[in-house]
Amino acid sequence: MQRVALLVAVLTAVSVLHGVPQPALASRRAANQFPDDFYFGASTAAYQTEGAWDADGKGVSIWDHMLHSQPNLTADGQNGDVAADSYHRFRDDVQALVGLNANVYRFSLSWPRILPTGDTDNVNQAGIDHYNDVIDELLANGIQPMVTLYHWDLPQELQKLGGWPNIVIADYFVEYARIAFENFGDRVKLWLTLNEPDIFSLGYSTAAAFAPGANSSGIADYLMARTILLAHARVYRLYDEQFREAQQGRVGITLECNWYEPLTNSTEDADASERQLQFQLGMYAQPIFSSSGDFPEVVKQRVAANSEAEGRTRSRLPALSQEEIDYVKGTADFFGLNHYSTSLITSGLQGSIPSKEYDTAVVTSPIEGYPTGEGMTDVPWGLRKLLRWVHGQYPDYQIFITENGFADPPGVLNDTGRIHYHTGYLSAVLRAINEDEIPVIGYSAWALIDTLEWMDGYTKKFGLYAVDFDDPERPRTAKASVSVLGQIYQSKEVPLQDFEDADTTPPLL
Ligand code: BGC
Repeated sequence: MQRVALLVAVLTAVSVLHGVPQPALASRRAANQFPDDFYFGASTAAYQTEGAWDADGKGVSIWDHMLHSQPNLTADGQNGDVAADSYHRFRDDVQALVGLNANVYRFSLSWPRILPTGDTDNVNQAGIDHYNDVIDELLANGIQPMVTLYHWDLPQELQKLGGWPNIVIADYFVEYARIAFENFGDRVKLWLTLNEPDIFSLGYSTAAAFAPGANSSGIADYLMARTILLAHARVYRLYDEQFREAQQGRVGITLECNWYEPLTNSTEDADASERQLQFQLGMYAQPIFSSSGDFPEVVKQRVAANSEAEGRTRSRLPALSQEEIDYVKGTADFFGLNHYSTSLITSGLQGSIPSKEYDTAVVTSPIEGYPTGEGMTDVPWGLRKLLRWVHGQYPDYQIFITENGFADPPGVLNDTGRIHYHTGYLSAVLRAINEDEIPVIGYSAWALIDTLEWMDGYTKKFGLYAVDFDDPERPRTAKASVSVLGQIYQSKEVPLQDFEDADTTPPLL
């Protein structure tokens, strides 16, 4: 009974999601006001928050494996064994979302918590029960679940087969996705297949920068792209053919990109910026979201030419057949975009041979004169320019900003840097919606709570809520940004002052 009531509530909420914001409506809104049906939320990922790494039948992921066998890889020698213990404390996380006036929560499922070996030979009911509890708790508090199927924690058993560069992983991913749709799809209406393949490809190109540390630069990181695209497309088509009619949800993918401002106004620097965007974002976005499909021309040409110069008989970038191009094209209901920062860019060769870095042939440098956080610069207009680029390339898709956030060192509760960052970036999003007519439908800040920040361990904090990692209870404490962001989320309005300040930028190209 309770499930039926929840389903009705969710279906009602979802029907508004399908409308692209109408210019007529936009013009009736104040300039600093978001559309009424805008999604405001916060994000996390399983390995970074759940802990309980071996509880109740969970299997080992590539991150468990790597950080257990090489504990010194992270900046502080720590790992995600306990993290914020969200597996046991998810109700605290839901209350944190309530305190933020969020209407959506983006979190990921741990594949090895549901399928400990990665395959369907062992379906871990305790894992399924856990996510049912999380989803029900969210809905009972009026918060839409937005579920990422894969945020980097591949079951270690599948890494034994080579992981994502092996095309067979797509078969396993489809079966895992089917289990997720069957068990959670009655209540989950917003799905993301994969988070940031471009970033987790680092796990295949480097030895010690990311799990699994496969160290096959310029080869495995390209090979996996074909698996990723086919795995994503097959999951989308599975949903489309077998679940959409009954469940009425939407399926997307999350891709990340910073903005790269040309160092000078030379054509060479403009080309360098375009090249970087195509190698980073276009590599996965063009096959799915463009009308032509396939990898971007510049990527295909450069990798093929360098491969030939290296004496290879074929390109290190796998070719997609025409059948594959057609199969992958159009397999998304919306575009999930993660964005953090902006830097300057010019052309120049760097990186080892072979490497994606060498193939891209660009050099970035920090942009001066803007506030900085831990390893990032607060440049709101960079997001607006990126939104324009994405909308220009892929005009048919609504965009959901699935991550945007600012890092502090540990111990900062009066997080004025984060407040400045989010108000500025939200203002940039508003201008993109209202002035550029770009259909952005949601904004989910990274992160709801402090997390294990991958190789940085617990030395960098992205949370709106602090977590005391020395306390076994892992209490969450609201940072100052919660009330500021909470006010924006509730009023759907950015304070006029902040809205105007955020536009003191170089002219938009
Ligand atoms: C990832 C998150 C990560 C965040 C901050 C994104 O690339 O999806 O998992 O914590 O950036 O570095």
